[in-house]
Amino acid sequence: MRISLLALAASLALSSAAFAADPAATAAALREKALTDPTAWTVVEDLTTTVGPRPVGSPAMTRAKDWAVKTFTDLGFTDIKVEEFSKPSWTRGAESASIVGPYPFKLSIIGLGETVPTPAKGIEAEIVVFKTYAALLAAPVGSLTGKIAVVTQPMVRAQDGAGYGVAGVMRRNGASEAAKRGAVALLIRSISTSDSRLAHTGIMRYAADVPKIPAAALGVPDAELLERLAARGPVRVKLSLASTTSAKTVAWNISGEIKGSAKPEEVIVIGGHLDSWDVGTGAVDDASGIAITTAAAKLIGDLPTHPRRTLRVVMWGSEESGGSSEAYLAAHKDEVPNIVLAGESDFGAGRVYSVMLPQGAAAAPQLKGLADVMTPISVLISRDPARSGGADTEGLQQAGVPVLSLRQDGTRYFDLHHSEDDTLDKVVPAELNQNVAAWAAVLYMIADSDIDFRALKDAK
Ligand SMILES: [Zn+2]
Repeated sequence: MRISLLALAASLALSSAAFAADPAATAAALREKALTDPTAWTVVEDLTTTVGPRPVGSPAMTRAKDWAVKTFTDLGFTDIKVEEFSKPSWTRGAESASIVGPYPFKLSIIGLGETVPTPAKGIEAEIVVFKTYAALLAAPVGSLTGKIAVVTQPMVRAQDGAGYGVAGVMRRNGASEAAKRGAVALLIRSISTSDSRLAHTGIMRYAADVPKIPAAALGVPDAELLERLAARGPVRVKLSLASTTSAKTVAWNISGEIKGSAKPEEVIVIGGHLDSWDVGTGAVDDASGIAITTAAAKLIGDLPTHPRRTLRVVMWGSEESGGSSEAYLAAHKDEVPNIVLAGESDFGAGRVYSVMLPQGAAAAPQLKGLADVMTPISVLISRDPARSGGADTEGLQQAGVPVLSLRQDGTRYFDLHHSEDDTLDKVVPAELNQNVAAWAAVLYMIADSDIDFRALKDAK
């Protein structure tokens, strides 16, 4: 312990000496300090332990809001703001499903976020299995009358999480597509790369003018069992889902700042989302993102002189069921021209391998040296521009704010995502700290520069 404290002191001294000389040297010192800094782990451990799961509209979300204010205060952030907004919320009740025949078997399921409940006595019906979502879409209208549609399309494991978009559409839109064809309920194979029986939830939406049918996800082995049974003959399943909704729930976006030393009105907006699904403790989704961005900004705030521009960390309050991006834009409309850049950490704690900057920025003279700062932690500066800054920055992006994206290794992310397995033990401290190092170095270089990302884009 004494050795690491000495090392911290040495790196602080280095950053102090390097500051005047060269932003890249300061960024490199921040990187080194971040690799052993305990802040991110402390934040993710404390949030997941003291608050637990954080669904919008729950008492836990109120505790999370208070936790956020205290955390920003304790870590030395200033201009702490709690911005309230209202939105509908959905709360899970008791859920169960079982095979009725050819033999009884209890299935592992979880209701999709915002599903309607079944009648209290449940829904029992014969299933029709589709091995792909495309096969469901190809089924004629009326062909599923009275049946439970089951879609068993697997998710592809990929470092960048590309499999999520492909498989996710069956979760988001599947219920209405099945209902159009006459189905009384929808079961999908979890959007998961795990072989665990735990099922994975996530938001769904109903199309207008289509009957709303209940929808749930099956554990991967359970989906495969139904697939094999249905190939042999008729299968009957009983599904019971309960839930309650509220048309208007209070939610909050909470922010704190590291004030800029020369141009404090120019703001870089970063953060993660404070809300989570109700299963697990939301350690990877997204207490890790909260911890990474908070710790990176805090390290920069500890420097003897702050960078020229302001860093603002936002803990967005309703990502999973939507609403925080729109609320943030609405509250900051007038400030948009002064928001230099926005980005969110929302892909767990797997290590960063690439930084995607706004169009033209990778070659900007102000960021000369950034690539060398990132090399020791095995991060590339991508030549491709960032396409998205994360779900909670979409509103800002649509309003013209440039975005950045630190790409993380998501190979394991969808083993855990939106399931009971999203817990603290899955966060690897060294990987978490590598994220902090990457964010701190990139943010410092950008915050201490005068780079105008909008002008770079227009120059193309
Ligand atoms: Zn998330």
